[in-house]
Amino acid sequence: MSPVRVIKTDILVVGSGAAGMSAAAASAALGAEVIVADDRGVPGGVLNQCVHSGFGLGRYGKEMTGPEYSEKEFRRFSESSSVYLPNCRVLSLSSDRTALVSDAEGLTRIVFTECILATGCTERPLWSLPVAGTRPEGIYTAGEAQEMIELGGYDTGSRIFILGSGDIGQIMARRFVQLGKTVVGMAEISDHLGGMKRNQEECIKAYDIPVILNSTVMEVHGFPHLTGVTLHHLDSGTDELIECDTLITALGLDPDRSLAEDLKKDDAYPAWLHFCGNADYVHEIADSASAQGEKLGRSIANNIVKRKKEVRDV
Ligand SMILES: Cc1cc2nc3c(=O)[nH]c(=O)nc-3n(C[C@H](O)[C@H](O)[C@H](O)COP(=O)(O)OP(=O)(O)OC[C@H]3O[C@@H](n4cnc5c(N)ncnc54)[C@H](O)[C@@H]3O)c2cc1C
Repeated sequence: MSPVRVIKTDILVVGSGAAGMSAAAASAALGAEVIVADDRGVPGGVLNQCVHSGFGLGRYGKEMTGPEYSEKEFRRFSESSSVYLPNCRVLSLSSDRTALVSDAEGLTRIVFTECILATGCTERPLWSLPVAGTRPEGIYTAGEAQEMIELGGYDTGSRIFILGSGDIGQIMARRFVQLGKTVVGMAEISDHLGGMKRNQEECIKAYDIPVILNSTVMEVHGFPHLTGVTLHHLDSGTDELIECDTLITALGLDPDRSLAEDLKKDDAYPAWLHFCGNADYVHEIADSASAQGEKLGRSIANNIVKRKKEVRDV
């Protein structure tokens, strides 16, 4: 087995989505040494799968698609002195300020002064709910389906049922109709639609998506492939069998802090560990994730550069 390589840096940024790219560019612009590791082959994170328009109005004064927005952010990032490590997964972080990372070359230890987690968020799966039935093919979270279709070139079934009315679910409802599929319904457990007003107008109303409020899926049917779901109406207490071959869940997002959990002591993270973008809280708008990353990167780099100067001046 080849020995583990060791590299050093002022700041390690984990994740090169909207938040990670801007944090890195802002830190490097102030003179900090920055390494950015991302487990995907290209920077941009979820932006690359968001082929719809609606990005960048706040930051660039015009609406663009996710990949166009990513391209703009990448330009700033690539012009900075940050070192970018694509296809490089951070496996763990230790309290001695080292990260163990894995890529095609093997394992590397990155020794850092500060670490910024810009790892995005995770989607709550169907199985986080008490749903009866087996686990047939044809059940995806909205983000998974979006990635499969837009980046992987894969297809789903043609009769789609959506559980949960979060933004990604609404965006995917529109996308399925555009792709010629039938969205048989979108169930929402509460008495009102979730998501942003813009998506409610542009995705649900404009595309006539049937919304069934006060309802939830209790059981999935079919094996090996999904054939339908039992929808429970909370108002009437009745159940309804809905035939569908694809179930999409849009049940909410949670910051992905899996790398940080073992570092928590007395419910607090170490002072050298920072969060931005969806890893901090779920940002509805990419501009907000970018702005937060930029602000955080600038503040951390300022402290590092100041400390280095103090050491030099002693
Ligand atoms: C479907 C969808 C539609 C949206 N629509 C809009 C819209 O219309 N307009 C708008 O402004 N915003 C929209 N947003 C919101 C916006 O895109 C996000 O808030 C923002 O892009 C999040 O950026 P991020 O950098 O926090 O996370 P991400 O983009 O998720 O980036 C995280 C990166 O970290 C990497 N990573 C995670 N763990 C590791 C690890 N251990 N090692 C290495 N790398 C790792 C991931 O692979 C990923 O590349 C949408 C979001 C989604 C999901």
